[in-house]
Amino acid sequence: MKAPSRIGILGGTFDPIHCGHLAVADAARDALGLERVILIPAGRPWLKADQSVTDAAHRLAMARLAVDGRRGFEVSSIEIDRPGPTYTVDTLAELRRELGEDATLHLILGMDSVRELRRWRQPERLFDLCHIAAVSRPGARDVSPDEFAREFPASVGRLSVVRGPMLDISATDIRRRAAAGDSIAVLVPPAVEWYIVKNGLYLG
Ligand code: ATP
Repeated sequence: MKAPSRIGILGGTFDPIHCGHLAVADAARDALGLERVILIPAGRPWLKADQSVTDAAHRLAMARLAVDGRRGFEVSSIEIDRPGPTYTVDTLAELRRELGEDATLHLILGMDSVRELRRWRQPERLFDLCHIAAVSRPGARDVSPDEFAREFPASVGRLSVVRGPMLDISATDIRRRAAAGDSIAVLVPPAVEWYIVKNGLYLG
């Protein structure tokens, strides 16, 4: 009998996508034996409703350039194509319908995002739809599955803590550097740097 496919999902604003995102996806893939990782740029991230976010078409294009030639990685525009605010629980329900009941979905989250889970829409329901891979991130303390289970009983057996590469890279810092004219060369893949320069993004 064929084993069910194990699929990683990494959502984000990706404004811009950076090497931290790719390293986190790699760490989760290696730790959990994922066959595919789907990167999903957010349409209108409701947690960042008070911030201006770069046009979705640019964020999607950069994500596609970042995975170009990386085996096992793909980009989905599912959240950008759906009108209205972006809720992860809706995306997972849609993916579950598309990918079938046999697929195991692993939602990959940086530890800062895991700590915000209680603010998300229907956090308990997330655990019905997927497993969560919580990847360490500089500046965010690792959650413990026991502590988490007290708040979210449905998370028992469905949360893995993945020790990531701990790259201190954030999109906020990249935007700031680009606006100041500082180099972002080692922080984003070369094709993404080229895209940012060519399109004059993040000039402030
Ligand atoms: P911003 O600085 O604009 O808030 P960001 O760098 O946190 O952006 P997002 O697109 O918001 O990037 O992040 C998408 C997902 O990737 C989140 O789950 C976030 O926690 C995770 N992530 C991003 N960068 C890292 C990193 N360096 N280490 C671990 N997780 C990360």
